[in-house]
Amino acid sequence: MMEKVLEVKNLKKYFPLKGGVLQKSKVQIRAVEDVSFDLYKGETLGLVGESGSGKSTTGRTILRLLEPTQGEITYEGKSISKMKRKDLRSFRKNAQMIFQDPYASLNPRMTVGEAIVEPILSHGLMSKKNAVETTMELLERVGLNPDYYHRFPHQFSGGQRQRIGIARALALNPKVIVADEPVSALDVSVQAQIINLFKDLQEEFGFTYLFIAHDLSVVKYLSTRIAVMYLGEIVEICDKEKLFERPLHPYTQALISAIPEPNPRKKEKRIILQGDIPSPSDPPKGCKFSNRCFKRMDICTKVHPEMIEVGGHGIRCHLYTEKEGN
Ligand code: SF4
Repeated sequence: MMEKVLEVKNLKKYFPLKGGVLQKSKVQIRAVEDVSFDLYKGETLGLVGESGSGKSTTGRTILRLLEPTQGEITYEGKSISKMKRKDLRSFRKNAQMIFQDPYASLNPRMTVGEAIVEPILSHGLMSKKNAVETTMELLERVGLNPDYYHRFPHQFSGGQRQRIGIARALALNPKVIVADEPVSALDVSVQAQIINLFKDLQEEFGFTYLFIAHDLSVVKYLSTRIAVMYLGEIVEICDKEKLFERPLHPYTQALISAIPEPNPRKKEKRIILQGDIPSPSDPPKGCKFSNRCFKRMDICTKVHPEMIEVGGHGIRCHLYTEKEGN
């Protein structure tokens, strides 16, 4: 039986939309709307969706870098939503975030070695001498020269900076890593190297990853399971193999059809979605995907579909019913 590390139940995160007189408004951006999933020890759950789907907000809210509006997040059986400062600090040691732009999270006046040593010392994990040695080992482990300890962030390329970001996250020996679009800003060849590094580190240290990306082809190689998000909701979640063999949700079908296929004979016709993702402050009635869906029915614009289980897929779409299992 797989061990649950993190449980997310009915998570919501709304932001007030400022405007009008006194910058007050009743309109809210519903960035995350009723998201539930479990994260199992040692797995990689890929969280994918277009920009504006709420995937990054979900990642940040789970680590309480943003306060949830509603919902329950549990780590190893303890509620994160209600954690006080001391427990939250210990949770944050065990659950690290890797950002799309590691440069923004590195102090330009600190050498990269100092930036990695700092969290080790602030958590009181070891002496300064040992922290420096550990940092040099970490730099080597992520594919950098240990002498880079003394260099500043601006002296590195995008790929090298992401390796530094990874080394910094590893410094606290975490169990869970939330990686938010960690390769999106990199060249394709560098992307592959960094994804391989994530995979090798997981095999070596047994990390559990929540890997966020807007591109299904990026999460395809690394993920055990995949959750597809659209306008603040998970619309389909299942094992990676099931998702690619038989995607059920029309949105997932469109995303998969957009992945380049090297063998033209195997390639299915690309599904081109019309229009952009609507604003999360004013989502369509009924199914949130209804204004772009090529399989829309009458019910779709009237009734919001619930998440149901169909043949091992969690799916939110009126085309399927739990009973039929079709
Ligand atoms: Fe399309 Fe209807 Fe399914 Fe929504 S519920 S994805 S509109 S078929």
